[in-house]
Amino acid sequence: MSEAPSAERQSRLTVLAGPTAVGKGTVAADVREHHPEVWISTSVTTRRPRPGEVHGRHYWFVSDTDFDEMIARGELLEWAVVHHSARYGTPRAPVEEALAAGRPALLEIDLQGARQVRESMPGALFVFLAPPSWEELVRRLVGRGTESEQERRRRLTTAAEELASEPEFDAVVVNSEVHAAGEELVALMTGARAPRPRLQ
Ligand code: 5GP
Repeated sequence: MSEAPSAERQSRLTVLAGPTAVGKGTVAADVREHHPEVWISTSVTTRRPRPGEVHGRHYWFVSDTDFDEMIARGELLEWAVVHHSARYGTPRAPVEEALAAGRPALLEIDLQGARQVRESMPGALFVFLAPPSWEELVRRLVGRGTESEQERRRRLTTAAEELASEPEFDAVVVNSEVHAAGEELVALMTGARAPRPRLQ
């Protein structure tokens, strides 16, 4: 008799979201460095690479046409227009493969994407990365210095809306210190720390 796919082997998907500039990417990078057992999704995006960004590592940088085709073929688990500019999306197949192989899998995506995943994969764990304070978030946003004034204002508006979404999440990790936040995230992913009960 052939064996059915083992339910124990299938691991859980974790979605990390939070306001812009809170440090989601930095926390995910810390997890990548210290926890090679965790699989982290590489998104596709239509935005242009920043200096130092590597195709296939930071993102898959694709054209609008390529992105349209991926949507049409149903290849994206979720996608969104972020900051009213570029599109970002999560390729579906690698996520499914990582979960089927029993690897804890992590998506670092924006709030719109997190809400889509909550619809399609309600069993996933949703973790909100919060700043220590609003003032600190503004400082980080300005400090990054890679955006124009207009873009920064737009990102602040989005960040305020995103902060208000915290109660939708299963757990909150405050990013006061990157490595500590990464360890807390992994503790949630592996069940060493319990999330709060869901409201609905
Ligand atoms: P950045 O352009 O600064 O790398 O990222 C901008 C925003 O896009 C971040 O908030 C990041 O979480 C979000 N993002 C990155 N990849 C994805 C994705 O695959 N889907 C969605 N919905 N958002 C993403």
